[in-house]
Amino acid sequence: MTCSPRDGDRRDCSLRHRRARQSRPGACRSSTRLNPPVAPPGAEQPDWRLGRTRRMGGLSSSEKMAEVFAYESSELDWCEDNYKHSDHVVEYFNTMSSFFFFIISPIMLYLLHPYAKERSLAIHMVWVMMIFVGLFSAYFHMTLSFVGQMLDELSILWVLAVGYSIWFPRKLFPSFIKDRSTFSRIVLAITVITSVSSFIKPTANAYALNCFGLHLLYTLVIEMRCCTDQKALHLAKLSVALWVLAISCWISDRFGCSFWQQLNFCYLHGIWHILIVMAVAYASTLVAYLDASYEIPYSLPGLQFWPCDKWAVGFPQIVLKGTDKTRKRC
Ligand SMILES: [Zn+2]
Repeated sequence: MTCSPRDGDRRDCSLRHRRARQSRPGACRSSTRLNPPVAPPGAEQPDWRLGRTRRMGGLSSSEKMAEVFAYESSELDWCEDNYKHSDHVVEYFNTMSSFFFFIISPIMLYLLHPYAKERSLAIHMVWVMMIFVGLFSAYFHMTLSFVGQMLDELSILWVLAVGYSIWFPRKLFPSFIKDRSTFSRIVLAITVITSVSSFIKPTANAYALNCFGLHLLYTLVIEMRCCTDQKALHLAKLSVALWVLAISCWISDRFGCSFWQQLNFCYLHGIWHILIVMAVAYASTLVAYLDASYEIPYSLPGLQFWPCDKWAVGFPQIVLKGTDKTRKRC
């Protein structure tokens, strides 16, 4: 059973879909996308490389292509009720919460600009790409399509790759890597291989991405072990607290859905979106601040909260206190 917006009543279709999944996990998607039809002996085979649309048994290549864009063609389905608020949006709250990326990203681009101007404008790639993460996340949750899932996951992978390339501390490079450009090339190669292999078992991708979070946490702990800067420590604690909250929401939505359905509160994945973008804002500023201390120490980097530094929370910002004079002297 494959539901798409072409179905007469999407809500009925969604309910049928969910019932089928509950009774026989994966049954809905056991259809054409996962198990391509086998051509009978002697039948004409499609030429995938040329994109021809010759028929074989069931689907032509163009129909297969259409299927990966179809609503609910992804294996993933989050806890939120499908089509609850709109016939065109599968998971309404999850879609809307993705737009939080569009609010936070421009603010972070603005706040990191003085540091990026001094260090490298390539740093802006992180938050420009975060806008695409939000866009693809909204598209994925709106359609739950296979293409949406892959775009969402791959955009996150590439943001991580850019973050690693720019900010991973030199002192933690493996001994055979001597400079950042070599490190970046290796990260690029690994990311390309990972992107291709993400199509092998797409359901495992989300778990693999969260493992990067664990590695980042480990790196942060190593970096902060001998840090005495109270503002940096405060920012580290906030980042970790937000990440723990975010990942708890993600896991709870994934594995405790029946419990949350009984409470009629199926919005934890949407809350994960909001918390994780805030965790990235805090953590990336902290990492950028440590990077500025190593790479451009003459600019005398400091941390502040925006819009008011006296508040315990707010958006973190790097201020460069170094004057032109100090830069010349250094
Ligand atoms: Zn999501």
